[in-house]
Amino acid sequence: MSHSSLNLTRRRFLFTAGASAAGAMLLKGCSLNPPSPTDLSPKAEALPLSPATTPEITAAKLGFIAIVESAPLIIAKEKGFFERHGMTNVDISKQASWGAARDNIEIGSTGGGIDGGQWQMPMPHLISEGIITKGKRKIPMVVLAKLCTQGNGIAIAKKHTGKGFELDLAKSGGADYIKDLKQSGTPFRAAYTFPKVNQDFWIRYWLAASGINPDEDLNLLAVPAAQTVANMRTGTMDGFSTGDPWPYRIVRDKIGFLAVLTAQIWQYHPEEYFAMRKDWVEKYPKAAKAILKALMEAQMWCSKPENREEMLGILSLRKYFNVPTEFIRDPYAGEYPLGDTKQVVKDPNQATLYWKDPRGSVSYPYQSHELWFLTESVRWGFLPQGILGEADRIINTVNGEKYWREAAKELELASQDIPEDPSRGIEKFFDGAEFDPQKPQAYLDSLKIKSIKT
Ligand code: CA
Repeated sequence: MSHSSLNLTRRRFLFTAGASAAGAMLLKGCSLNPPSPTDLSPKAEALPLSPATTPEITAAKLGFIAIVESAPLIIAKEKGFFERHGMTNVDISKQASWGAARDNIEIGSTGGGIDGGQWQMPMPHLISEGIITKGKRKIPMVVLAKLCTQGNGIAIAKKHTGKGFELDLAKSGGADYIKDLKQSGTPFRAAYTFPKVNQDFWIRYWLAASGINPDEDLNLLAVPAAQTVANMRTGTMDGFSTGDPWPYRIVRDKIGFLAVLTAQIWQYHPEEYFAMRKDWVEKYPKAAKAILKALMEAQMWCSKPENREEMLGILSLRKYFNVPTEFIRDPYAGEYPLGDTKQVVKDPNQATLYWKDPRGSVSYPYQSHELWFLTESVRWGFLPQGILGEADRIINTVNGEKYWREAAKELELASQDIPEDPSRGIEKFFDGAEFDPQKPQAYLDSLKIKSIKT
């Protein structure tokens, strides 16, 4: 039977089956087909290894969540970068949720879990300190690289169109609207996928900058992504703080609109990170560096415009993001329809960036950013104020910038690609606030809305 007649028979069968959903699935399936082999560039070539670079072990199990932050892991796997550095058996495993990733790192690959993977911040620190693990067990972790900057945003349900959901909510009237909803007994409900980490911080920062107290003026809650989108569709969820492809998907499916990009709240902000169990890194330091080198090369690959279409094809596969490529093409170009007018902003500097940005390295794990995440945790009472006195100890234990530097040298990176200082210096936010890593307390003092706990 020829290919086309087979297709015809299959189509006829599906239509006879009568389900329009099946037809829709078939259509949707078209854009989920793997890129044809002719679209793919050759995989990276294996490097000759010396005793200094031969990994002690060739296998590792790494977790990822199907959002843009995971692209370097997926590309390192698919384009042969892990193999290039002798890591011939790296398994990347899709995690059902952040909670599942946390549970899997706690048991490690020897217990059927993972050795490392993608994290929101400060999950590696909270896991290391035993704050979010089961039974408060301390599982020391090492942060090896930042995976990306930006690529996240806050989506608002369609029913709130025209209510002033913009970057500056105080000026647009959105802040009064949210407070009025609370007054009338129908508080605004917004979700993130895991509490006390990035997405929770981004929406809190945005709201608080306009005088909204995120703990009093609305309901913020942790809800799985798919459920949040379903709830936004039915009108029982009002907002979602999350990463692409989710926000863009909400716009494409006409469930809501993008109110704000994290790139607008804090341009070139640290987003998600790659971290592994410290016992694994210390047992297999050369393998850890081989993984790191592969990820760094994958980040460089992801940042090249000529690889964009191939990257979209790979990421959209069912085993990875499982979305049509159209849902991620515009975000990667920094093209977003923003606000309720859906005016298109096109700025590559607001897109997800993987390797470099105008502030420096994207991949290098600046210690000053880890300090911001700990400071912001204190701001909202997620961690007691006393943790600031321990921040140096915690960051020095968890931050693995020395591994990043060694990996960068082994890759013979140009010196301008290797930051000199573990601090990126003063950070500026959209509302004029500044975070000086030398003075975290001054930053906390400058913020009007906070819930610091001693
Ligand atoms: Ca994110």
